[in-house]
Amino acid sequence: MEDRYVKEKLARDNSENQFMDIFSLKDMAQSIIDDLVKWSNDEIYSRLGGKLECELVLSEAVNARASVDPADPYNPRIIIYMGMVREIYRDSLVFPILADRISAIPGHDESFKEKFGGAPSYFEGGVPDIPDKLLTPLYKIYKSAFEGKDQDARMTDKSIACRFLMFEVMLVWVFFHELSHLAQRHYLFRNDKVTVEKLEEESYEISETECAGDECVRFQAREVLADVEGSELTIRYLLRKKMFHFSSIYLLYCAQYCMFNRFYMGYEPNLDFVNKKHPHPVVRNELTSSFLTEYVIYCLVNMKGDIPVEKISMAVVYLSVKSSLISGIYWGNRYEVMSGELTPFMKLMMDEVKRDEYCSMLMRSVHEHLSVIKGHHLNRHNFTDFIGVLRFFSTDIEEDQQTQF
Ligand SMILES: [Zn+2]
Repeated sequence: MEDRYVKEKLARDNSENQFMDIFSLKDMAQSIIDDLVKWSNDEIYSRLGGKLECELVLSEAVNARASVDPADPYNPRIIIYMGMVREIYRDSLVFPILADRISAIPGHDESFKEKFGGAPSYFEGGVPDIPDKLLTPLYKIYKSAFEGKDQDARMTDKSIACRFLMFEVMLVWVFFHELSHLAQRHYLFRNDKVTVEKLEEESYEISETECAGDECVRFQAREVLADVEGSELTIRYLLRKKMFHFSSIYLLYCAQYCMFNRFYMGYEPNLDFVNKKHPHPVVRNELTSSFLTEYVIYCLVNMKGDIPVEKISMAVVYLSVKSSLISGIYWGNRYEVMSGELTPFMKLMMDEVKRDEYCSMLMRSVHEHLSVIKGHHLNRHNFTDFIGVLRFFSTDIEEDQQTQF
C-alpha cells in the first residue's frame, strides 16, 4: 500500500513540524476543549452526578480515545493525543493556501459556476471568504500577535481566518465523536467481551487489532454511530456559537475529508470488508457526509432564514461536492502519486456498487443498535430524536437500496 504515497512528500511533514510549536498548539486546543467539556458536563454529566474529563496528551499518536469504567459510567475520560491535534492544524494551515491554487487551475471554477452558479452558497476560489462574525477568538489573538510584522505573502487574511475556523470545527468534531461513544454507552454492547482484566476500562480508538465477521460489523457500525452523532453535535455547536454558516460547514466537510484520507493510509486500495474495528475510511466518509448534508438541509429549512427553501438543497450539495473535489486533489498533491485527475481515495468513492454494499451492511447493524441506544442514551436530547425525521435513519431507504443489487 506504500506505492500510493511519495516518500519525499511524506517527509515534508517532518520539516513542517518545526514550525508548529506543540505547546502553543496545546494552549490553542485547550481553550476549545475546556468549553466543550463544560458544555458536556452542563448538558449530560452534572445532572447524573458525574463528571467528564478530557486530557490533551503529549504523544505523536494521531488518535483520540474515550474510556469508561462500566461500573462508573458517569465519570468517563476523553484523551486526545497531540499528534492528532497537530495533524488537524497541519491541514488547517496548508489547505486554505493550496485550495485556492487548485481552484485556479483552468476549468475548475468554471465547471462549478455552470452547475452551481445560482446556489446561495456559491463562492469563487478554493476556500470562502470568512464573514467578520465568524472570525474566531483564536484568529484575533493570532492577528494581533503578528500586527505590523512581515508575514509570508501566502498568508492572506482569508487563509488565516479559514485556518482557525477549520482547526476549530475539526477539533470539535473529534471531541464529539469520542463523547458519542460514551453518551451512547457503547460499552453496553461489549459485555460479552468484558473479562476480569478489562472490567477496569473500555477504550475506543487506538487499537486497530483485528476482529472477525459479525463482531467486526458491529464494531464498525458503532464507529458510524459516533461519526454521525459527532457531526450532529458539531452542527449544534455551530448553532450555539452562532457560527452556523456556509463557510464553517464547507470547512467542516473539507476537514473531515482530509481526516478520512489520512486514516486511509492504513487501508488497502479496495473496498473489500476490512477486519478492523474501524470501517474503511471511504465508507466512513460516505456515511458521515450523507448524514451531514441531509441534517444541514433540515436545519436550514427549519430555521426559516433568508435562503429561499427551493435553493437550500442546491446550496448544501454544492458545498459537499466542491469540498470533496478540492480536498481530494489537495490530499493527492500533498502525499500521493498523482496519475490522472483522481486520487486513489476518489477512485474508490466512485466504485458505487461496492461502496453501497459496504454501507448497507453497516447500516443494517446501525439500525439494530439504534433502538438500544435510544433507550439508554445519557443525553436527554440526542441524535436519536431524528429517527423518523431524517431519511438517513430510515430502514425503507436501506431496503430500497438493497433491491438495486
Ligand atoms: Zn470511534
